[in-house]
Amino acid sequence: MTTTSSHAFQPVLERIAEELEHTPGRGRPADYIPALAARDPRSFGMAVAELDGTVYGVGDWREPFSTQSITKVFTLALELSREGDTLWEHVGREPSGNPFNSLVQLEYENGIPRNPFINAGALVVTDRLHTRTDDAAGEFLAFLRAESGNPRLAFDEEVAASESAHGDRNAALAHFMASYGNIGNPVPVLLDQYFRQCSLSASCADLALATSFLARHGIRADGTRLLTRSQAKQVNAVMLTCGTYDAAGDFAYRVGLPGKSGVGGGIIAVVPGRCTLCVWGPGLDERGNSVAGVAALDRFTTLTGLSVF
Ligand code: GLU
Repeated sequence: MTTTSSHAFQPVLERIAEELEHTPGRGRPADYIPALAARDPRSFGMAVAELDGTVYGVGDWREPFSTQSITKVFTLALELSREGDTLWEHVGREPSGNPFNSLVQLEYENGIPRNPFINAGALVVTDRLHTRTDDAAGEFLAFLRAESGNPRLAFDEEVAASESAHGDRNAALAHFMASYGNIGNPVPVLLDQYFRQCSLSASCADLALATSFLARHGIRADGTRLLTRSQAKQVNAVMLTCGTYDAAGDFAYRVGLPGKSGVGGGIIAVVPGRCTLCVWGPGLDERGNSVAGVAALDRFTTLTGLSVF
């Protein structure tokens, strides 16, 4: 079946959910942040948002989950819109080929992280956004509420506290980069901002809508421009090459869309000029991507023919 007409999204989503019902093995929820470990790996939701804000969904698509690293896309867009190209002097845009929380490359590359979607890179972006705005997490939350049209979106203080209590690795990354002058704020202030940002609780519907500015080539829900067309292309390109941990090559091969995953089990994806998707299944594979999420996006692009290739 190959179709690109909008009304066909709902049956496609239902078919994918039905197929997944019969798929054994959903992976395991992340347990290094204890508050995430309790989610049921059989949960599954998926939403597609069209550019005009129409949303289609299936399963647990209205159920809030912990967004975690998906948030890195939005802070990157917010900081890039303000700072422009000099941001890339402080964070690279190459796949790391290493785990998302790895320290190893930083010493060889003078405290400049490989890309904005590994933890080190996101810490740099949040640090710079915080310096510019005095409230990076607040800016981020206001943006997500506006783009999703959901004023009730909020941080999950329990998840933020849980991550803070187990945050030695992120603290090490931040201190190490500070020693190279690539972090400007006091590390505890930065970590507080970063953990709150990661703890955002949102549903597939919220996130599909909030990602739409990337499918609209930089235009926000209210019609104003956040990113230039070129910057929107850049963010989409970095998502494609770096957005799904050290499995970005496999994700591009299977799904063929810019995407960003988080350890809460969510994945957002963009069909530029057409629609955005968010899928959630808390069970992760060994690289940290949602097992059901990757499978569902793989089926979506196969069934609809919608990919960037
Ligand atoms: N808050 C998580 C961390 O910093 C995010 C990880 C992720 O979703 O990739 O470890």
